[in-house]
Amino acid sequence: MLRAVLRSLVLALVFSAGLLALTYYALPRFGLVVDVRPIDRSIFLYRMEPTLEARLEGAPSIPMSQPTPTTANEVPRVRNLVVLLADGLGFSHLLAARTALVGARGRLWVERLPITSWHTTFAPEGTYTDSAAGASALAAGVWTTPGYLSMDPDGNPVPTLMEEALAAGKSAALITDSYIWDASMAVWLVHHPKRRDFEEVAAQMAASGVTMAFGEARSDGDEALTARLQPFRDAGFDVVTEPQELERLSYGHRSQIAALPPHSIAAQDTFPNLVDLVDMALLRLMADPDGFLLFVETEEVDSGGHNYDFDRVIRGIEALDKAAQRIVETVRDRNDTLILFTGDHETGGLALGNSRLEEPLSPMWAWDYHTPAPVPLLAWGAGAERLAGVHDNFQVGRILRELFAKPENRTGDALRDELADVEFSAGASKHPEDG
Ligand SMILES: [Zn+2]
Repeated sequence: MLRAVLRSLVLALVFSAGLLALTYYALPRFGLVVDVRPIDRSIFLYRMEPTLEARLEGAPSIPMSQPTPTTANEVPRVRNLVVLLADGLGFSHLLAARTALVGARGRLWVERLPITSWHTTFAPEGTYTDSAAGASALAAGVWTTPGYLSMDPDGNPVPTLMEEALAAGKSAALITDSYIWDASMAVWLVHHPKRRDFEEVAAQMAASGVTMAFGEARSDGDEALTARLQPFRDAGFDVVTEPQELERLSYGHRSQIAALPPHSIAAQDTFPNLVDLVDMALLRLMADPDGFLLFVETEEVDSGGHNYDFDRVIRGIEALDKAAQRIVETVRDRNDTLILFTGDHETGGLALGNSRLEEPLSPMWAWDYHTPAPVPLLAWGAGAERLAGVHDNFQVGRILRELFAKPENRTGDALRDELADVEFSAGASKHPEDG
């Protein structure tokens, strides 16, 4: 009996050894490879998930309406300008959002904007920048010191695209899911060396005549909020502080400011989210025959980077992506509107830790502050091709000015000469206040 069992065991061993030898040695010699490694389930799903293929195939770049009208000196005529800003956005943030939201081979809506580029973000001092200087570069075309709101490094005010648009009779709206006096909002209307001087920021915003400013109020207390809203009331703004009051604004024709409770906009499943506010703004902006400038920001990408909150980064990009979709769908038949999606600086030095883009992605953060990394820039519409190529951040603002300014203010060839002469200035070393 024992002999029979042993004989069976030996036979089984010999048979197994033969099978292994056949699998790994003999069959490959005839070109047959049998891969018996465990199936990597994530790769299997990734290849077989049909909706990912569909998203990729069904998501070509959005064609631009052509031709764009040009002025006498061949500068495309941009009547309406939309700037979508993901504060703290880097390339890894964008890829992480894509992978989480539509799959690694899908496309976010903003990734369908056909003109692609990037811009550097470092400050004149050679350091990383902050939202004040980074957004000033876009809003005023100025390369400046962190903490400064649309001022050059010597403290001289630099006119912004939004101020010029308002002066030209256009409408202008600022929308953020952060607080309303935040630097990324303020740079469009305020000239000040201290971004945290919220009373002065509010006073200058109120004096600007901006058409609409929608955001949240910081939880600094009711007294501070009342004081900051007073200049808006004095300037004749319609002022609301609660979501249920927003509907009232739809029927108004005065300038409007909504300073909503903290975290009321960033939450996407409650009214109002960024798309709701964009809808409200577009209704009024699109009715202006002179054109408009619309700025829409998510602060969640920057806050997510500062707090190593990966999900917050992804949700922020998702919210802005939906806003981008709504705007593109509204203006896609026009040939006089330019849409730009970018960041002001990268936050967190984000790297994606996995060797494959499988879920859940493993974020690796370099640190909890900004970095001088370049950031993505995507664009669609009138004059968008002018944004192709690599730029320094302030050059983006100058190109926008060239495209969007009144024809008589355009600089044409002079601008290109000026850009060619830009040098790396070693300005006085100043440090960002924070943010
Ligand atoms: Zn920040």
